[in-house]
Amino acid sequence: MIKLSIPHLAGNEKKYVDEAVESTWIVPLGPFVDEFEYRLGDYLHHKDVVALSAGTAAIHLGLVMAGVKAGDEVICQSLTFSASCNPIVYLGASPVLVDSEPETWNMSPSFLEEAIISRKKATGRYPAAIVVVHLYGMPARMDEIMAIASRYGIAVVEDAAEALGSEFDGKKCGTIGDYGVLSFNGNKIITTSGGGALICPDKTAAERVKFLSTQARENRPYYYHTTIGYNYRLSNVSAAIGCAQIEELPDRVKRRRCIHGLYSELLAGAEWVTVHDEPSQRFRSNFWLSTVSFDKSVVGRTPDEIRMLLLERGIETRLIWRPMHMQPVFADAPYYGGGCSDGIFENGLCLPSGTTLSDDDIAQVAEALKECLAK
Ligand SMILES: *Cc1c(COP(=O)(O)O)cnc(C)c1O
Repeated sequence: MIKLSIPHLAGNEKKYVDEAVESTWIVPLGPFVDEFEYRLGDYLHHKDVVALSAGTAAIHLGLVMAGVKAGDEVICQSLTFSASCNPIVYLGASPVLVDSEPETWNMSPSFLEEAIISRKKATGRYPAAIVVVHLYGMPARMDEIMAIASRYGIAVVEDAAEALGSEFDGKKCGTIGDYGVLSFNGNKIITTSGGGALICPDKTAAERVKFLSTQARENRPYYYHTTIGYNYRLSNVSAAIGCAQIEELPDRVKRRRCIHGLYSELLAGAEWVTVHDEPSQRFRSNFWLSTVSFDKSVVGRTPDEIRMLLLERGIETRLIWRPMHMQPVFADAPYYGGGCSDGIFENGLCLPSGTTLSDDDIAQVAEALKECLAK
């Protein structure tokens, strides 16, 4: 079976986990958490990173830090995984969904601005925050999005859960917005088995996030609380796995980019399939997943039919995230857009992209894809 993307052990996981267990630091917090944060900061060229129990927790706390409160509206990219959007609702706020643009598949700057102006007209207030996503590792148009956000004084939470190692204009994704989110879930580019991180603007903010994520316990001899806390800190054992994984991160990014290059080469002759690529050199994707879209008028099969044909040949692919404005749970959310994300969902497919796959595996996928489309 050629899988979509499975965890890839780096070498030192067992050694570090053994160390964590032997030192009896098997509780949340401990030296590996500090070390993992240090290594992440080093990689990102940005010190103020807080390790958390999940990417979803990081989005939740990023929105808290951005000042989102019950009754607020928060703008979210529609084409994403539901975890980008759900924490808005945890806070009693409501999502406003914005379409993508065709080159990056990420938030359309023009629909973003339309949404901001329209919500101000409809509610008398600007949305409290913007959640922008770097889908499948492809950087969003962060220059335009940050310019619009600052024009209206709105905080940006950058969901870089899929984009660790991606860059826009030479800056690491996750360090461009006011807050940045990483995920170390099992199928992401590196994993801690489960975990995430919030990239903060400065040390004060990072200290506040550490405080909130450890039950908001004030520095007193007894438990004393002046604010609502969360149990969102990463465990020392998970962080030990992360320390080993991050040692291999530069190689992992190289390999995913190489896999994308292979698909581009192998599928170049087939005009009914387009390998999704970077719009220009300003965008540098980690290509967490290589994605393609089909020319429906030629192919005559839906991506799901193609997915099932490939599955029969032992190849696992995955449909594109179904946009949030097409989800029953967000049916009441205002939506600003055309048909861009709908079209990507209806015509796209994610190909096996894990770093455990060989060049032969990738060639086999490309060959099978061509055969499925030819018949
Ligand atoms: C994986 C993912 C998340 C959530 O991360 P978890 O660590 O699984 O909570 C959020 N947003 C996007 C776009 C993701 O792909």
